[in-house]
Amino acid sequence: MSTPPAAHPVRVRFCPSPTGNPHVGMARTALFNWAFARHHGGTFVFRIEDTDSQRDTEESYEQLLTSMRWLGLDWDEGPEVGGPFGPYRQSDRLDRYRDVAARLVDAGHAYRCYCTPDELERRREADRAAKRPPGYDGHCRELSSEQVGAYESEGRTSVVRFRMPEAESYSWIDLIRGEVTFPAGEVRDYVLVRANGEPLYTLVNPVDDAAMQITHVLRGEDLLSSTPRQLALWGALRELGVAEGAIPEFGHLPYVMGEGNKKLSKRDPESSLLFYVEQGYLPEGMTNYLALLGWSLTEDRDRFSLQEMADAFDITRVNSSPARFDLKKCTALNADWIRLLDAEEFARRLGAFLTAERGIGIDPSVQRVVSVASPLVQERVETLAQASDMLHFLLVEEAAFSVDPDDSAKMLTADAAPVLQASIRALEELTDWTSAEIEAALRTSLVEGLGLKPRLAFGPVRVAVSGRRVSPPLFESLEILGRQRTLSRLKAAVTDG
Ligand code: GLU
Ligand code: ZN
Repeated sequence: MSTPPAAHPVRVRFCPSPTGNPHVGMARTALFNWAFARHHGGTFVFRIEDTDSQRDTEESYEQLLTSMRWLGLDWDEGPEVGGPFGPYRQSDRLDRYRDVAARLVDAGHAYRCYCTPDELERRREADRAAKRPPGYDGHCRELSSEQVGAYESEGRTSVVRFRMPEAESYSWIDLIRGEVTFPAGEVRDYVLVRANGEPLYTLVNPVDDAAMQITHVLRGEDLLSSTPRQLALWGALRELGVAEGAIPEFGHLPYVMGEGNKKLSKRDPESSLLFYVEQGYLPEGMTNYLALLGWSLTEDRDRFSLQEMADAFDITRVNSSPARFDLKKCTALNADWIRLLDAEEFARRLGAFLTAERGIGIDPSVQRVVSVASPLVQERVETLAQASDMLHFLLVEEAAFSVDPDDSAKMLTADAAPVLQASIRALEELTDWTSAEIEAALRTSLVEGLGLKPRLAFGPVRVAVSGRRVSPPLFESLEILGRQRTLSRLKAAVTDG
């Protein structure tokens, strides 16, 4: 089965709440919506659901925008882009929600509920004890004006609750899971507006889906249980003329699991998209891996570009069973993407990463070092952070250069002093500072002269000069580092050792 060509132009939305760090599951939702819009030549709307002033932050809002841009998911309508259905930040639309809530109450689709949190909790306990199904019991559905007056004079506050039609069951053909049904009576009356007047997700999300003429709602499976509520609310909104178009089609994307088949938790560092930005994953690698959390291009091919995804994306081929986030696989795929970059582009990305994440200002001379040195590491690293660590010894200010203490303890022992001294002598005499000459001089002096095995001969030199036991190829590294810095680091290692 594949999605039939839509009768109306496709309009999808990505509508996160700006709380905490951008999560990889959320990025996956953004990606699938983007791919669906691009595949159908539709519109990708980016909306910010920030009506919870306690939890939403400006920092998180900024991170959302940066993350979307980093991933390369461009939006057609939304913050900083605008569009015909704006504003696209719900905190700028509060008047509309207040108006809709009032109309729902006036028409009897919603009512004021004066129950206190304590009362609700006590009744929940009683339900549990009596093994009755959980959920609001309808206590305030039919309050008389005397009761309302009494509550008000007690100084109670009230929330606005939606009145779920009791006799109706709710079904839809989910684009991913097929038919889903919630039987009549299972879904209880739920809160639309908090006691402090703040409208909740339950209200603002469908209201804006209607206002923005959204045709398809693609979102995580964790929101499946809010769909029957929204279908009921849509019914009321249409009756009031607040919603005019058709109810959108729904597709619920599979859960993203972490290690040990637990849901990937916000506390896992690898659950935050920022982790991948800071570690220097490529957007190409990241979007590719996120796509595999529920979808694949073909059975035998894991690597594909964003454009290939958009060209081939079919929402009905998204898997309904949970996807597992496998950091090793994600990293291996990223390494493939790193190797696919041409040398110049890799050097450019590495330069940008060093500036953005390592605070290294890239002037032409630094970029020259990065350009000559990056071919030494491109095949050896899985992330730009690894490349940056490997090339640190070439980029660091001389005064700030230091040898890793563990590596120093292991390699720069008393036995190493004669090796380092011999290399200093050999390199001081060198006329041409090229990797070939450096290699020949060190082999003659250390392997032949001192009779050392290459590993024992070059190990101390590598640690003294690069600061670590693992470095890019030694002789090329020394050529790039230059005679003066090489000799001064070797001498320092003799003195310190
Ligand atoms: N703001 C909601 C969330 O982040 C959006 C859910 C939806 O896509 O409907 O969970
Ligand atoms: Zn109540």
